[in-house]
Amino acid sequence: MQKIHQSNHFTEIVSVIDGPLQAILNSLVRIFLTMFLPFPIPDEIIMELRASILQILFILLLVLILTVVSLIGIFTLPLTHQVTTIAPASDSSFSGTDVPFQNPLGGIGLSFVRITAYFHDSDYYAQFGLWHEGVDFVPSDAYYKQSTAYNAPKNVNHDIDVFSTINGVVTYYQDQYGSHTIEVLNNEGTLKVIFMHLNDVFVSTGQSITAGTPVGTMGDTGFSTGEHLHYQIDISNNDSWTPIDPLGYIKQ
Ligand SMILES: [Zn+2]
Repeated sequence: MQKIHQSNHFTEIVSVIDGPLQAILNSLVRIFLTMFLPFPIPDEIIMELRASILQILFILLLVLILTVVSLIGIFTLPLTHQVTTIAPASDSSFSGTDVPFQNPLGGIGLSFVRITAYFHDSDYYAQFGLWHEGVDFVPSDAYYKQSTAYNAPKNVNHDIDVFSTINGVVTYYQDQYGSHTIEVLNNEGTLKVIFMHLNDVFVSTGQSITAGTPVGTMGDTGFSTGEHLHYQIDISNNDSWTPIDPLGYIKQ
């Protein structure tokens, strides 16, 4: 009953539309009908079916708009990625510093990390024909046993949190391969630490952070052959940046 009433109401609306608009609506209905019926359709039938067909066209238009809006949402998701996740707690074992003394997974020295590719690694060069400008880390056995962040009850996804190793200002970007990348520039503007292939990102461009602030989680976004953290230190060299071996900084 409700449906019939709505249909009548719609017919009334359509019937008051007159002039050039009505001609356009009529030809729209005729085009729609000829898509399904392969023979000429008398005008009377078109007039009779017009309201129903216009309703169908209206619904199709709504569906189309909703689809386009959803697709736009899906494709712009990576851009909003960095603000969708709630950050875990900072690691208090880091002390506020402008010099990257610790490794970005926490712990003392290199105890929490296993190195899968060194700075200027010859195997890496042989494989990819590129100089490796940072060091690649994965968590060590000691990390899984001892890391407070990893073993925190709220870490239900077993994320590997990556912590900033210096105080400074954040820049976030996705490189040409889609790697979620965080750079932290120290307050003097002389050194920056770079974290690549992150999965979740907890900080955003322009944010001031201290050493021990979680910047994201270890992942394999971008040019990566598996989950690991690419950790890089660049030092200012006049107006360019020169990567140096991060292991030279990490205190044992
Ligand atoms: Zn790397």
